[in-house]
Amino acid sequence: MDMLIGGKHISSEDVEEVKNPYNDEVIDTIPIAHLQTADLAIQEANNAKKSLQDMSAFKVSNKLFNVVDKLKEKRHQFAELLTLEVGKPINESLVELDRSIETLRLAAEEAKRIYGESVPLDAGLNGKGFFAFTQKVPLGVVAAITPFNYPLNLTIHKIAPAIACKNTVIIKPPTEAPLTVMKFAELLDKEFPDGVVNTVTGYGSEVGDYLVSSPDVDKISFTGSVTTGMMISQKAGMKKVTLELGGNDPMVVLNDADIDKAVKGVINGAFLNAGQVCMGVKRIIVEEDISKEFAQMLVRETEKLVMGNPMDEKTTLGTLISQKAAIQVEQTVNNAVHLGARILTGGKRDGAFYEATVIDDVTPDMDLVVRETFGPVAPIIHVTNIDEAIEVANDTEYGLQAGVFTNDYSNAMRCAQEIEAGTVFINKQSTFRTDNMPFGGFKNSGVGKEGIKYAVEEMTKTKLIGLNLR
Ligand code: NAD
Repeated sequence: MDMLIGGKHISSEDVEEVKNPYNDEVIDTIPIAHLQTADLAIQEANNAKKSLQDMSAFKVSNKLFNVVDKLKEKRHQFAELLTLEVGKPINESLVELDRSIETLRLAAEEAKRIYGESVPLDAGLNGKGFFAFTQKVPLGVVAAITPFNYPLNLTIHKIAPAIACKNTVIIKPPTEAPLTVMKFAELLDKEFPDGVVNTVTGYGSEVGDYLVSSPDVDKISFTGSVTTGMMISQKAGMKKVTLELGGNDPMVVLNDADIDKAVKGVINGAFLNAGQVCMGVKRIIVEEDISKEFAQMLVRETEKLVMGNPMDEKTTLGTLISQKAAIQVEQTVNNAVHLGARILTGGKRDGAFYEATVIDDVTPDMDLVVRETFGPVAPIIHVTNIDEAIEVANDTEYGLQAGVFTNDYSNAMRCAQEIEAGTVFINKQSTFRTDNMPFGGFKNSGVGKEGIKYAVEEMTKTKLIGLNLR
């Protein structure tokens, strides 16, 4: 597949193979961009700013709605490509497609709601006789850098609001899973003037770095790991940056919880997309009295998952993104076992597959739960009371989302207020997001919010216009 720059297909002599993690077959190749190519994309995106900004909000909105229709028509085709490149079960890919369509639709709607406000200058000393109002104006060029796990929806979360508020975009798709995003960029490009949407493929450390450091890019919207996010924030200089980073989300299960509901929450939260979810359930903090019953029920439900060919509709657990990623998860689990944790079910690897694994007697100092483990693992940590549960939940550098299971309102509110996370759900696992809600973590989980309306806020600047009517 070629890059798309200024409306033209651009290839490169150097290419990288994109492989299906299920069978290691090559699906396609992508060009490895040289820095001159990244530069060309920056120029084209800057050249296209005027054509987009001259368009009415009505027209931008309609064009985004047209792309919604096109994506709906190609829903199955896109979902299959997504499964091929990521290894996620086809039913999960179809859900990602539905969410992508929804995210795009929200942006098409938001394009008509970009308001300023009137400002009463006469409320200030010497302000009498002025009329003033604000406008939200586009930043210019937004670079979107995205990860492999939800490549399509997470890219749309950046480029759709960016275009809705009239920024041109440069997309740096994930190297492991770039194809769905590149195909989607072609749909957008057909609807908008040349250069409004550009893709640059290659290694993040080269191309991504170049975009991040360029003075001709006005905003970096990044989703990915904390390590890369920290590098970006150091190199971005004065430009605006949104960072949606990793998570190590706790699920707190108190003695009075509906255990059945909590167990279902883990099944969805720890094993969705083979555990490769930023807001996945990564630490299950359970009060002692119910921990045995909880673990037994969790094992029973976990063993119902079906690992297999991700294209098969019956499959509920696909591969990880690569064998290398699966080996890393395997080693982290094995290290925890050496330190005293017990595998209750799972724990075996086959190529890029890693079994859905429930592991008990995990202590908060084990690497398995100190770092973000990006795989299908449900680690159980025992605590004796709510104070300890909150303390363990907060004992992390991350703060993306959290879930608390209890039927006691005062305990629920206490956890909601004291757990340091961008979102706390009561009686729902952290692995839940609607695409209109403000989404973004505390602590090292990020800076800024996404969720179309909130992304638009971060992709515009406020200009005040004052009229002297004296
Ligand atoms: P990653 O940080 O390795 O890569 C993300 C993107 O950054 C890729 O496109 C990569 O090519 C690019 N990149 C790499 N080095 C770069 C550099 N020096 N400059 C600019 N760009 C560079 O992350 P990943 O392994 O693809 O994704 C997994 C991580 O993403 C996990 O930590 C996960 O929690 C996080 N994530 C966060 C969210 C969120 O919304 N908070 C959502 C999904 C994933």
